[in-house]
Amino acid sequence: MTYQLPDLPYAYYALEPFIDKETMQIHHDKHHATYVEKLNASIEECNGCSDKSIEELLLSIHQIPEHVRQAVINNGGGHANHSLYWIIMGANGKKQPEGKLADDIKTTFGSFDQFKAELTAQAISRFGSGWAWLNVSEKGQLHIETTINQDSPLLKGHKPLLCLDVWEHAYYLKYKNKRADYIEAWWNVVNWNKVEELYNQFKK
Ligand code: MN
Repeated sequence: MTYQLPDLPYAYYALEPFIDKETMQIHHDKHHATYVEKLNASIEECNGCSDKSIEELLLSIHQIPEHVRQAVINNGGGHANHSLYWIIMGANGKKQPEGKLADDIKTTFGSFDQFKAELTAQAISRFGSGWAWLNVSEKGQLHIETTINQDSPLLKGHKPLLCLDVWEHAYYLKYKNKRADYIEAWWNVVNWNKVEELYNQFKK
């Protein structure tokens, strides 16, 4: 078995005007596809690796043979991170979460707006390439974090709920060097129904 590039759950143009069609095409068909390709190549000599889901593979990173471990962190992370990124976005979604997730965001961060401001600030100040996240910690607490390169929060046992790609390839065609403008636009395409679903599954 090999890892597969998942289809986008919507059309390339679906997130316009916030994220443009060409960026989505290159990001999904070229960048994500390359992570999947390189992941499959790197685990060829690792017995049992591809029997695991991508999440299981990253959660058990210390069992991966050392000579391929960094390649799995980079390309397996790239695969897992992008797979989540596509599904936590969508068109015509609501502006804020509801239910348990909304309540716990309020308890943890003070308000939805404070949460949004904090994640935005961390995403803007993530130096170089990486991601900003809303995750659940190993103790079950909501928290914001950033990761470098394609490192996945799963490597630390954190459960990812929401991810924001701040690699330049995610925004450069439309926003050039203006990462903050991309981030502001990105909040319009968050699929809160999906994020709630992930949180509720975890909370069960
Ligand atoms: Mn990316």
